[in-house]
Amino acid sequence: MPRGLGTSIAAALLGLTISAAVAAGVLEGAWRPGLPAKVEPAATGGSHRLAEAKPHASEHRKTGKAIAVEADNAELAGGKSATSFFLDLSSGVPAEVFTLASPYRVIIDLPDVVFRLPAGTGQKGRGLVSAFRYGLLAEGKSRVVLDTVRPVLISKAEMTVRGGKAVRLAIELTPTTAKTFGLGTGGKRRASAPAKQEADEGRGRRPKNRIKPVILIDPGHGGVDPGALSPSNLPEKDVVLAVAKKLKTRLAKTGRYDVHMTRTRDVFISLDQRLKKSRKLAADLFISLHADAIAQKVYANSVRGATVYTLSERASDETARLMAEKENASDAIAGLSTAEFEEKGQVRSILIDLLKRETANFSADFSNTLVKRLRKTVSLSRDPQRSAAFKVLRQADTPSVLIELGYMSHKEDEKLLKSPPWQRSVADSIVKAVDAYFAKRTAKAR
Ligand code: ZN
Repeated sequence: MPRGLGTSIAAALLGLTISAAVAAGVLEGAWRPGLPAKVEPAATGGSHRLAEAKPHASEHRKTGKAIAVEADNAELAGGKSATSFFLDLSSGVPAEVFTLASPYRVIIDLPDVVFRLPAGTGQKGRGLVSAFRYGLLAEGKSRVVLDTVRPVLISKAEMTVRGGKAVRLAIELTPTTAKTFGLGTGGKRRASAPAKQEADEGRGRRPKNRIKPVILIDPGHGGVDPGALSPSNLPEKDVVLAVAKKLKTRLAKTGRYDVHMTRTRDVFISLDQRLKKSRKLAADLFISLHADAIAQKVYANSVRGATVYTLSERASDETARLMAEKENASDAIAGLSTAEFEEKGQVRSILIDLLKRETANFSADFSNTLVKRLRKTVSLSRDPQRSAAFKVLRQADTPSVLIELGYMSHKEDEKLLKSPPWQRSVADSIVKAVDAYFAKRTAKAR
């Protein structure tokens, strides 16, 4: 990812850096310092304050619990000719700002920042920014992603003192052309995709004498990627994590399974990281949890219910295809470069050809069992068993399903999705399906 512009990160410790106009198709090796437009911030002593932030950062590394930096306000100002983004922080931190194309975005990388912003912040755009989101990107690393309506330049970036230790990060964006945006950054793609290496990397061997089946629960989205939002701005990432935790507790309680989760808190995990974890564990079953929302208001009150998806390269129907497209966009939403995951996407299509028929059959079998069990406790969508090319389901050796628990956009569904008793009953149904699935497999193996 172009964020791997290592020099900018190092420079960020000294002051606010901007590595601008990183176009799609640029990979790490292609970038040379000074090649893209590198704007020195018009910061008034920005590096001074950033230096002040340093002891705090190292303290964080040593003790693991420093006083967190908080963001208590984020806002947009200006119009189409120049749009400003402001982020108020409780103390100065190093920041790195850069742009990405396909789609056009501005990324602000910060250390671990706690966002205390009102629900719905970032939903409404202004000027050149159509929306923005924020959250944890990885351990100790936060990110703000601004979606822009067209290619932009970072014309100004500064961190000024608000009083005490508090600072305001201000970034000004001005319009530019697609050509200027990519100028000097149109590096060559890496010549060959590391297909073999990728395919073999970290694949755990399933031990023959494994006592308990390994189950990997995958709550979708997280951190900077909120997933779908309900009308009251309840994010999908919270709902699916709550259900995932309940499911984990219940599965573990049976004593029959070794249960893992791809994330246990509000942090972003890329689709590749999720797949890698599954491979590493050599999981026997992978359950991805999501909750959808539909954008068209006219259907919001009629479309509801749960759906179980399995993998197929050709989608079972148009809705399923769109759903996979939406869920596969998670990496782009978090500001990972398109080039990176496009390239990995190719690798995945190679992998998919190698998918074992057996794995697909087991996935279908689990999907059947699951729908039967879910039907007893939750309302299902009109066509509750579908298939499409979900990246996270591309697993050669692990039977996997993706459950869309319901529609965040539907009033009744939203109420249920956030209700702990409903979450528990869904988790119970999934446990019953898991039990039935493994009981059948064990019986066959005898
Ligand atoms: Zn989702």
